[in-house]
Amino acid sequence: MSSSSQNYLKIGIIGFGPFAQFLVKTMIKQGHSIRATSRSDYTDLCTQLGVSFFRDMNAFLESNNDVILLSTSILSLSQVIKSLPLNCLRKPTLFVDVLSVKEYPRDLMLQVLPSDSDVLCTHPMFGPESGRHGWKDLSFMYDKVRITNEATCSSFLQIFASEGCKMMEMACEEHDKLAARSQFLTHTIGRVLAEMEVEPTPIDTKGFQKLVEVKESTSRDSFDLFSGLFVHNRFAKQQLREVELALETIKQQLLKRMTNEELEQS
Ligand code: NAP
Repeated sequence: MSSSSQNYLKIGIIGFGPFAQFLVKTMIKQGHSIRATSRSDYTDLCTQLGVSFFRDMNAFLESNNDVILLSTSILSLSQVIKSLPLNCLRKPTLFVDVLSVKEYPRDLMLQVLPSDSDVLCTHPMFGPESGRHGWKDLSFMYDKVRITNEATCSSFLQIFASEGCKMMEMACEEHDKLAARSQFLTHTIGRVLAEMEVEPTPIDTKGFQKLVEVKESTSRDSFDLFSGLFVHNRFAKQQLREVELALETIKQQLLKRMTNEELEQS
């Protein structure tokens, strides 16, 4: 019997950064077998976690994974995926990505991966901070882009569904439109606040405390992640223009009001 029909998967992870390290803890708890490879050497950390770490990409791909999970930075995905020795794959495999943009990895995977590989695009809408007390009621977006092996795909999705995630099936394009207006906007405001060196004061209002939280949580993610949200989401450019325009509109409204006040008092 194959491992996928028992619901236990052999999951190979490419890119063992902060987000992959966060995800594997739950996957291991659920009994899946995890292998990983990355640009940097995570042998010691993987030994502690019970993950097999491969320095050699050929050996990693030959290790008979049911699922290969791509968790590299958005900016490095193209280089990473195009350098994979895909001839080493032993069987048709489900490729899943967890990048915070969706059209871009979908197009790359369809372009580069063998046609017998399945492709599932996902975006867990949470991270090490928001998901530290569990994943219940946190959103998990996915798009079954090219799925022939429904059993493996459904076993993979079950990792998140069984933790209580809100499972949101959605086209990659729709995700990118919505995420530009929500996640990218949040990160942009957070980065602006960080650039202004906004810090708590002794007389913080509740609203201001929330702003400081936004600054702190968005600054914890790498600048690679933030810039990836902009560079590889075609809807983010318009969003940045709207932020600039809105700031200018508000500034003009305030200046006009100030001029009116001054005229009334003269
Ligand atoms: P990240 O900075 O976006 O990505 C770090 C990962 O990218 C590490 O595994 C790193 O490898 C790899 N990497 C960076 N540059 C590389 C290069 N030139 N060549 C090869 N590998 C390279 O941080 P992250 O938070 O771990 O995010 C990983 C992915 O998950 C991203 O695509 C992100 O959009 C997505 N995601 C993150 C969150 C979150 O809350 N953090 C939530 C949902 C989705 P090494 O560590 O080996 O150097």
